[in-house]
Amino acid sequence: MLRRLVHLAIDHAAAFVERQRTARRYPPRRARLEAFGAIVQTVVPRALVFVDRAYARRVLAIRGEPAVWQGAEPALGETVLAAPLEAHLQLTNRCTAGCKGCYTGASPEGAAREYGLAEWKTAIDALADAGVFHVALGGGESAVLPWLGELADHARARGVIPNLTTSGLDGLDALVAIADRFGQINVSLDGLGPTYAQVRGFDGFARADAAIRRLRTIKTEIGINVVVTRDSFADLDGLFAYAAERRLSEVELLRFKPSGRGARTYAALRCTDAQHRAFLPTILAAARAHRVRVKVDCSYTPMLVHHRPDPALLAELCVYGCTGGDFLVGAKPGGQLTACSFASPPPALGPGADEGARPRVEQLAAYWTAPDAFGAFRTWRADAVAPCTTCAYHALCRGGCKVVSGHVTGDLRAPDPECPRVIDQRLPAVPDRRRLPVL
Ligand code: SF4
Ligand code: SF4
Repeated sequence: MLRRLVHLAIDHAAAFVERQRTARRYPPRRARLEAFGAIVQTVVPRALVFVDRAYARRVLAIRGEPAVWQGAEPALGETVLAAPLEAHLQLTNRCTAGCKGCYTGASPEGAAREYGLAEWKTAIDALADAGVFHVALGGGESAVLPWLGELADHARARGVIPNLTTSGLDGLDALVAIADRFGQINVSLDGLGPTYAQVRGFDGFARADAAIRRLRTIKTEIGINVVVTRDSFADLDGLFAYAAERRLSEVELLRFKPSGRGARTYAALRCTDAQHRAFLPTILAAARAHRVRVKVDCSYTPMLVHHRPDPALLAELCVYGCTGGDFLVGAKPGGQLTACSFASPPPALGPGADEGARPRVEQLAAYWTAPDAFGAFRTWRADAVAPCTTCAYHALCRGGCKVVSGHVTGDLRAPDPECPRVIDQRLPAVPDRRRLPVL
C-alpha cells in the first residue's frame, strides 16, 4: 500500500508538471460566455468549470453587458450551450482489427471520401471559432494516419486540446513520437486476457498491453477505455487493478451501443439488467479499492440515477445524460456532423434538401442555431413520456441513450429501454405473496 501511495504522489506531481509545461507551450482557450454565465477552463486540475454570471463577471473582469447575457439568467441545461464543449472526430474508418462489436463498422479499406489533413484542419478551425474546448480524435485507427501529429499541433495552436483514443494495435511507433501533443491518450481495452478475445473476437490483449506499457513510459496521462459487455462486467475490478498496476491516470467506461457492427452483436454483448443495476456500486468499490479515477460515458446516467444520488451533486459534477447535439457533437470520417459519435448524421434542413446537403462539421456554427438542428436530441423535453415525465432526474438524464432507444424501439424519442426505472414500469406488478404455513 505504501508503495502505491508513493507512486500516486509521484504520478500526480509528474502530471502537474506535464500540464503546466504543455499549457505554457500551447495556452488553451480560457473561457467561453454562455447564457447562464460562462465556462472557465482550468489547466491544473484539467477541468471545465461552469459559473454563473456574477462569478464570471468577477473572474473574467467583464465590463458592460455581453449580448449573450441579455434577458433573464437561465439555469444550466435550460437552453442549449453556445457551442459544444467537445467534438468527437472520427478521423478515419480504416482499421485492420475487425472487432465484432466495432461501433463504426471500421474496415481495412475505410470509408468512401474520407477527409484528409486539409479538411480536418478546416474543421478544427471551425470548431475553434465556435469555442469548442476539446476534440476527441479516434477512428478506425487514427494512429496510422501520417498527419495525425500535424493535426494535433494545429488543434493546440487554435487553443483546442486534442485527446486521442487508439486500439494500440497499429501505428504505435509513430504515436510514441507525437504523444506529447495530446492531452489524454486512452487505449481501448475491453477485458483482461481471454475476456479481451471473447469481447473483440480476436486475441489482442498482449499487444494492447504492450502499447499501454510503452506509452506510459513517456507520458503520465495514459488511460484505458473499456466498453463494458456482459462478458467483461466480471472483469471490472480486475481492470481497475490492472490500471493501478500500470499506473494509469483513468479508466473510462462506456456502455455497449448498437451502432456499426455493434448493432448486430448488441443482443449478445450488451450488459444484463442485473449488471446495469450493480454497475455504480461495482465501479465505486473498484475505483476506491485501487485508487484510480473513473469516468463513465453519458449513456450510463440512467444506471447511475437508479441509486438515487442527490441531483444537485450530479449537476455539480456535471453528470449529464444524453447531451449529444448540445454538450458534444461528432463527425464521421467524411466530415458529416452528428449529435454524438454513435448517432447517424441528421438529415439536411430546409425544403428540397438532398443527401449531399447533410451538415458538415465545418458548418457547425450555421447548423447549431437552425430551428430543427439535431432533431430528437434537442426536443427531449417536449418528447418525454412516462416514466421520464415523473422522473426526478429527467433534466439531467434527458431520457437516456437515444442510440439504444432508436435501435430497440425504432424511436429515438422513446425512454431508454435499458433504464431500470423504465424496465420496472413495464414489468407487470407482482401481486403480494400470501404466506403459507410451513408444514
Ligand atoms: S445517444 Fe446520447 S446518451 Fe447515447 S451516446 Fe449519444 S449522446 Fe450519449
Ligand atoms: S426514467 Fe427516463 S429520465 Fe429517468 S433515468 Fe430513466 S431514462 Fe432517464
